Amino acid sequence: MDLLAKYGAKSLVGRAYTFAAEAHKDTKRASGDPYFTHCKAVAGTVAEWGLDETSVAAALLHDVVEDTSFTLDDVGREFGPEVRSLVEGLTKLKNLPHATAGITKESGDESENLRKFIVSFAEDIRVLLVKLADRLHNMRTLASLPLERRRTFAWETLELYGPLAYRLGMQKLSGELEDLAFPHVLPKEYEELEKLVKEPYEERLAYAHALVPKVETLLKTHSIPVVSTDARAKRHYSLYKKLLRHDKDLGKIYDLVAVRVIVPSVEACYAALGVIHQEWPPFSGRFKDYIARPKSNGYRSLHTAVFCVDRKVTEFQIRTPEMHAEAELGIAAHWAYQQARNQKNANVWSGIRDKQELRWVEQLRNWQGTFTDPGEFQEAVKTDFFRDRVYALTPENDIIDLPADATPVDFAYHIHSDIGDQCTGARVNGKMVPLDTPLRSGDIVEIVTQKGKKPSKDWLRFVKTSLAKKQIRSVLNAPRNSAIRRLVNNPPPEDGSGHRGIPRRNKK
Ligand code: MN
Repeated sequence: MDLLAKYGAKSLVGRAYTFAAEAHKDTKRASGDPYFTHCKAVAGTVAEWGLDETSVAAALLHDVVEDTSFTLDDVGREFGPEVRSLVEGLTKLKNLPHATAGITKESGDESENLRKFIVSFAEDIRVLLVKLADRLHNMRTLASLPLERRRTFAWETLELYGPLAYRLGMQKLSGELEDLAFPHVLPKEYEELEKLVKEPYEERLAYAHALVPKVETLLKTHSIPVVSTDARAKRHYSLYKKLLRHDKDLGKIYDLVAVRVIVPSVEACYAALGVIHQEWPPFSGRFKDYIARPKSNGYRSLHTAVFCVDRKVTEFQIRTPEMHAEAELGIAAHWAYQQARNQKNANVWSGIRDKQELRWVEQLRNWQGTFTDPGEFQEAVKTDFFRDRVYALTPENDIIDLPADATPVDFAYHIHSDIGDQCTGARVNGKMVPLDTPLRSGDIVEIVTQKGKKPSKDWLRFVKTSLAKKQIRSVLNAPRNSAIRRLVNNPPPEDGSGHRGIPRRNKK
């Protein structure tokens, strides 16, 4: 993207461009390219995502303080406090190798860094978005780095940035980051996978491509307007993870290749689904309505698998252009949208705060209050935030996002500490189950409570979330006035403003 042509040389972006080009003029990247090519690429990505000029300018300047003789004050004087604050956040994140090390190592120093890292992006989501664009370019140009740094970069990307991008709803970015990192982190596994899928991939991709015009004709004869149709191969890393869950049996993977259909409206999505199911019988148990029940990162789409031409099981993904943009860009799409709506409102962040994919940012903020010890906080982030997730539902269809193998007790504590404390039983999909039953995505969970009941010490054996553990311990170890203390720590919401009737924990 030609930034100067798009924004003009005298704009904020234009001035930042000239400034950064000058500041970095004597440095080169490991590849031998002028350093400024990196700044331009990062800013180009940020502009493509539709972020504001301040973010694009900050992207151009993101390495100036760390890598040149200019200081933050210079940046502030030249470009104002907003650009300064973004560059400051980005400069802090430069120490990220230590911060990520905090996820695996147990030293207090490093977990403190991780905490700072999360706080810094939670204050302004734009810092994180620019950082993700920075990481994307570094990963795309990884080949020129020495082996050791390549590994560190790739590992961080797989452990931290990929999951973060996913949690922000940026599925395309998350997929690309993970695929770029995968061969460096798990070279043997990558090679095996390549061998295993090469032929089936090419075969099925050819099959799906041939299907595309057939699908278009089919929908048109039923008067369903089609915006676009294409055939997509599944990402390598996500396929690798899926194969691990299915005993490496490629025969059990039905979305190796998917046909993606984009239609103008939600009604057209369901109409298209109907037509496809009429033409080709659906494969049972493979229909997912992420429009009625979006994934917890905000993803919406209809997914189905059908016995298609030649009875081959084929996955279809049906969505609107808006859902498509959101699936690709996630939070960035909301950000740009909200920004366009309140041009004059400086606090765009508040407008998108309640979006589903941002609730976890809020959750992290709340945790900072709950976990005062940095080691404990680190443990909570590691187990509750980065592990594979289970999405269970309340009877009201609220999605509760939990780590893998979480139990009804974790679910209960996630809703509210009192519900956890007073939990006596659980109904999963209408049936009473033992409290240590691992939950699965899509389970509808109803917690049975009894007033005045105390948590059992036994629960510590099986609960998976740090939050539940902490709460159980604090009740078990509490002195007699605990009821009062808990009320102070967890006041009930004074206005019932918790999400759709669910009381929020630690409301401030
Ligand atoms: Mn950089």
